[in-house]
Amino acid sequence: MRYIEPHGHMVSRTTDDYQAMVTSGCAAVCEPAFWAGFDRGGPESFRDYFSQLTEHEPRRAAKFGLPHYSWICLNPKEAEDLGLAREVLTIIPEFLDRPNVLGVGEIGLNKNSRNELQVLERHIELAAEHDQLILVHTPHLEDKRKGTRLILDALAAESRIRPERCIIDHVEEHTIRMVLDEGYWAGMTLYPESKCSAARAVDMLEIYGTERIWMNSACDWGVSVPKAVPYAMLEMRLRGHDPDWIDRVAFRNPSAFMSQCSRFRIPE
Ligand SMILES: [Zn+2]
Repeated sequence: MRYIEPHGHMVSRTTDDYQAMVTSGCAAVCEPAFWAGFDRGGPESFRDYFSQLTEHEPRRAAKFGLPHYSWICLNPKEAEDLGLAREVLTIIPEFLDRPNVLGVGEIGLNKNSRNELQVLERHIELAAEHDQLILVHTPHLEDKRKGTRLILDALAAESRIRPERCIIDHVEEHTIRMVLDEGYWAGMTLYPESKCSAARAVDMLEIYGTERIWMNSACDWGVSVPKAVPYAMLEMRLRGHDPDWIDRVAFRNPSAFMSQCSRFRIPE
């Protein structure tokens, strides 16, 4: 079994997690920029974090033979302070040419606030200017459908953005159809106890097919499972799906999306 982890916040994980992922067939890991769990003090903290994502963490992953890629942005949870956001947005372009950077992400909305939407629009503009791929976080629970709609509208409003170069993460049963119908990629984030479980993710694959869909763990500093993708692959096997079907979802689909960035190398 081989797979790609398209969304792991590895700076918060241990070396044991790296070992567990690699020995379960992980062939590459991609790390979107995330909220630290607390508010960072100022723009320089973001510069340090972006350096960690583009210099230190790839070296740590390499010790386990794992290629590491990253995405750069200011997280929606950090978007309320517009002054800070403006400063961080000027730092981001310095990192977009780094050898392991795939694009701008995970941008999006958290509470669907006016400030979040404004910062989302600036990120979309930045991605368009620098011809970057986009990885989007959608809000959870009751705000998800409304937030997903706002995000798709913001992306569509920027004529330089092509839907096939954007992945909309954290889709669920009530948002996956609009994402796929409008030409975007859909990411299913697997959670251990709430939200999308492995069983629900495989149900969605059986209903909507495997085109333009991937699964990810989104493991971070909270309760999360770095091996969520291989666990979901086991669920597929137990349901009788053939190895080619499983390989497409877990390996070839994320490879295909990320190969739209010339810096991504499909793992051997
Ligand atoms: Zn995330």
